[in-house]
Amino acid sequence: MELIIGKTAGFCFGVRNAVDKTYEEINKNTKDLYCLGELVHNEKIVEDITKKGVITVEDISDIPNNSNVIIRAHGVEPNIYDIAKEKNLKLIDLTCPKVAKVHEFAKAFSNDGYYIMLIAERKHPETIGTKGFCGKNSTIIESIEDVESAIKNFKESNLTKIGIIAQTTFSVEKFNKIVENIKSRVNCKIEVKNTICNATEMRQAETEELSKKVDLMIVIGGKNSANTKRLYDISAKNCENAILIQSNADLALKEVLENNFEKIGIMAGASTPKYCIDEVVGYINNFKN
Ligand code: SF4
Repeated sequence: MELIIGKTAGFCFGVRNAVDKTYEEINKNTKDLYCLGELVHNEKIVEDITKKGVITVEDISDIPNNSNVIIRAHGVEPNIYDIAKEKNLKLIDLTCPKVAKVHEFAKAFSNDGYYIMLIAERKHPETIGTKGFCGKNSTIIESIEDVESAIKNFKESNLTKIGIIAQTTFSVEKFNKIVENIKSRVNCKIEVKNTICNATEMRQAETEELSKKVDLMIVIGGKNSANTKRLYDISAKNCENAILIQSNADLALKEVLENNFEKIGIMAGASTPKYCIDEVVGYINNFKN
């Protein structure tokens, strides 16, 4: 059996930074340490930091005044900074610089009178944060089906130009199709900022290639992780046997390995730590012996 592990599998720069800095705070023994939303889409890491005293909350109103608060790599909407000031919270702002760049584009488009089309998953925390920077003259487009109503909203806004940005972990293929669709329907100035992160692009490109040449494709990552799900979708498109697992304890892994596949590919989402990948690799190697 041949096992091929993707070179880009695992933590991206933004997630590594957020995880490392959070452990630095834990090691400094920072008191009253809160995290606004799950630090990363990975159960093991969230469990571990919780054991070490980090309190994860979904809503800033649940954080007592004067506490220390981690802003995760996904970033937050601008009004969170205002509330934090009012509550005298000390922010440990770990917004990924690439997400912060998308916020900058959103602000610039908004100030320059563009109608913003944000190509993104509506419910993703990064999207919610970015949308806050876009202002009211903006629409989220999640799929081609949303383009028509987005154009209707644009026309009703009386603005004359469109600025397009994307969630950093959006599918490159889908983004290009949506942009083409928008361009084919309106005749106005359209400025496109492809803000999909290159860490995302590289993982998707490698998954595309790897999943075409293996008999079984294993994608490791959290069930809430958008970028992991994307890697699974690409794998399932190219490889008849593709599974998404969170860890080596996942039953689906044991079941699928019973089939004695000859060539197995492994990829992992940007929020999957190296030790999770190593555990799966160890499990597979033990399984065949
Ligand atoms: S995928 Fe890219 S933008 Fe998102 S956290 Fe990682 S490095 Fe930052």
